[in-house]
Amino acid sequence: MPPVIVVTGASGFIGTTLVRQLAARGADVAGIDRRSARPSPGARHVVADLADLPTAPSPVRDLLAAADVVVHLAARPGVRDRSPGIELARHRDNVLATRHVLAATTAPVIAASSSSVYGGAVDGRPSHEDDDLRPVGGYARSKAAGEAECAAHRSRGGSVCIVRPFTVVGPGQRRDMAIDRWLRAALTGRPIEVFGSPARSRDVTDVRDVAAALADLAAAAMRGRPLPSVVNLGTGRARTLGELADAVGRAVPGSRILGIVADGEPEPDHTLADTRRCASTLGRVPSTDLDAVVAAQLAALDPSGALERRRA
Ligand code: NAD
Repeated sequence: MPPVIVVTGASGFIGTTLVRQLAARGADVAGIDRRSARPSPGARHVVADLADLPTAPSPVRDLLAAADVVVHLAARPGVRDRSPGIELARHRDNVLATRHVLAATTAPVIAASSSSVYGGAVDGRPSHEDDDLRPVGGYARSKAAGEAECAAHRSRGGSVCIVRPFTVVGPGQRRDMAIDRWLRAALTGRPIEVFGSPARSRDVTDVRDVAAALADLAAAAMRGRPLPSVVNLGTGRARTLGELADAVGRAVPGSRILGIVADGEPEPDHTLADTRRCASTLGRVPSTDLDAVVAAQLAALDPSGALERRRA
């Protein structure tokens, strides 16, 4: 029997890409998510809420108990989410669900945290895995609390590798994220609105590189290779929001860019990954071809070109 890789958050942006890549590698993949998934050939999918795992039907717990490796992506992302009860929801999905997933398996776990736990790059210096955490805002704090669950699991003898992805872009990106919002705006004749200053910068990582890195980490864990307790997934290159908006403008010619729209959210001005540990762990570092990834994202969003033609 081939080893079983369980992916939580399998219906999400990164999870969908990861499940597709793992299935294409011939792995036995089982996704868990509270949402149903677009069927991916070769992958199973179970609908369950991981925050309720202790009372979930036994097949879900059996799946985690039998896993050879777990990639834990399920979470409530979104730094700008201000929906009622959001703090409680973040605690359920980012902390409690993590605690339950870790308790339900003896397999190595690759757990997604976020670059947001750093609170931004200080003085242009890339954020290193050993830096003190300075999470700003409710989402970042909940991801840091999820990391604390991972550290507690490790102190009890569990195996867990925390990954900190930096702003992930590409086909299927979440609708609350900048490039998706900007592409949808440009395709419907609305201006591209840049929150805060266009000089703010992000380390922008292609979702296909993130998924490939997660798949390689899962494979290494299954071979029994020791993994670092924390590793960044970023490119080590900063792109200003202005550069990102210009890339969307090139993909959808004729779009209008509105800089400096008031932003009430406490977000870091700059993020940047120190990539040395990623390089030594994976033997490579993600690199993002901005125009290519925006074009791929546009093609996924408007596959027939209908929106673009309607606008023209
Ligand atoms: P996403 O929202 O697209 O996917 C998350 C999935 O988790 C969703 O399908 C959701 O239904 C599921 N989920 C949430 N809570 C659940 C629960 N209690 N039980 C079962 N399923 C649950 O998010 P994403 O962008 O794919 O992010 C995946 C992971 O990567 C998250 O942990 C996120 O914090 C982290 N991350 C993402 C980015 C990024 O730029 N997208 C950057 C850094 C870190």
